[in-house]
Amino acid sequence: MFCPVCNGLQPINAACANCDLAMEDWGRMTDWIGPYAPYVPLETDMTSLDQSADDKNCLHIVYCPSCQRTVEAAVAEWGSPH
Ligand SMILES: [Zn+2]
Ligand SMILES: [Zn+2]
Repeated sequence: MFCPVCNGLQPINAACANCDLAMEDWGRMTDWIGPYAPYVPLETDMTSLDQSADDKNCLHIVYCPSCQRTVEAAVAEWGSPH
């Protein structure tokens, strides 16, 4: 399993729940919650967040430049080909 967004194979395709603008990928959440990562305030009002605990998803931080807010986005990982 690998994340197509982390590997540069597809854009994050996350739309802001507030203004519907395409959101920027800020990378994996695990890169942000490391010991030296800056604190990123998260809002959790995205409807897709039920899946955030699923380990088949790669959790990303996405940013809306219009609303200037960050939210979590779960990216479905791809199965590796045989
Ligand atoms: Zn990823
Ligand atoms: Zn927005």
